[in-house]
Amino acid sequence: MSETTLPMRVWTGSVVRTEELTPGMRRIVFGGEGLRGYASTGVGDEYLRLIFPERRKSAPRLPTVTNGCLDYDSIDLATMRTYTVRGFEPATGEVTIDFVIHDGGVAAEWAKGAEPGDLVGLNTPNGMYDAPGGLEWQFLVADCAAIPAAARLIEGAPGGLRTRAILEVPGPAHHLDLTAGPGAEVTWIYGGNGHGPSRLEQVVRSLKRPVGGVGYIWVAGETRELRGVRKYLRRELGLPSTAYKTVGYWTDGAERWRNRYEALDDATKTELMAIWESDADLGDIEIRYDEQLARLGL
Ligand SMILES: Cc1cc2nc3c(=O)[nH]c(=O)nc-3n(C[C@H](O)[C@H](O)[C@H](O)COP(=O)(O)OP(=O)(O)OC[C@H]3O[C@@H](n4cnc5c(N)ncnc54)[C@H](O)[C@@H]3O)c2cc1C
Repeated sequence: MSETTLPMRVWTGSVVRTEELTPGMRRIVFGGEGLRGYASTGVGDEYLRLIFPERRKSAPRLPTVTNGCLDYDSIDLATMRTYTVRGFEPATGEVTIDFVIHDGGVAAEWAKGAEPGDLVGLNTPNGMYDAPGGLEWQFLVADCAAIPAAARLIEGAPGGLRTRAILEVPGPAHHLDLTAGPGAEVTWIYGGNGHGPSRLEQVVRSLKRPVGGVGYIWVAGETRELRGVRKYLRRELGLPSTAYKTVGYWTDGAERWRNRYEALDDATKTELMAIWESDADLGDIEIRYDEQLARLGL
């Protein structure tokens, strides 16, 4: 279950069809010649960068790849967002992405109006879920943005792996049909997602971990909500970072956050980035980074 890395490339996807999954989620299937040769890592939470065109119906300006990495200097970051590969069909080369539909935002606005033939840039995907070998149980806790990844992890769970998923949506109309095996238990809770306070931290705090057995806890949702989750798992439970993964998928008030971040002076930005160069356990590095951001009002 370890991370699989594919050579980095940039692709162009053309919208093939769309489907309204719930009042708050729109599925968009991409295909076309520009995706020929695209491959999947097979990791359940694999994600990619989508690059949106500056104007609908025009082609996106694709970034270049330098030394096997996306060259961020070659792209306008305002046109790029991160999404999960909800499905990949090797026979047709189609890539499925499920978009949360919310107010504002380049991606959500684009997704609301997407029609067959519309183009986006995509890069080669990568996964973050990295459970230990011999896994016997896992907890998956997610809000809407992370449900596509949670859904793939639930559907891909091998038989015999006990999977407990708690998914936070605005209300009952937002439940999705998931194909869960016999070892999986899925619970829907209501709140968060920009509609009210999130309960993800409360949920994680209330989880009863099986006594013994190799386990993994995967939590993804709103960035600030995840800070409390991370502290709880690392500082209060004392788990090693190999026993869990916590990922901030979106930031409430993202525009304000970006403006404040951009306003930081270069020395402060360099100090923030230097936190990641420490030899400490990843769990401690993440918390130090969160604390520094919080001190800066971010
Ligand atoms: C690894 C990873 C995988 C992801 N996979 C998916 C996925 O499969 N599907 C998906 O929909 N999202 C996914 N996301 C989240 C997505 O990248 C963000 O929601 C992104 O901010 C959307 O961009 P935007 O241009 O629509 O909004 P932004 O410009 O980022 O924000 C504009 C406004 O929208 C609000 N907003 C942003 N996202 C949400 C949200 N989810 N709910 C409510 N309000 C929101 C912000 O508060 C802000 O006020 C993923 C993120 C990561 C890191």
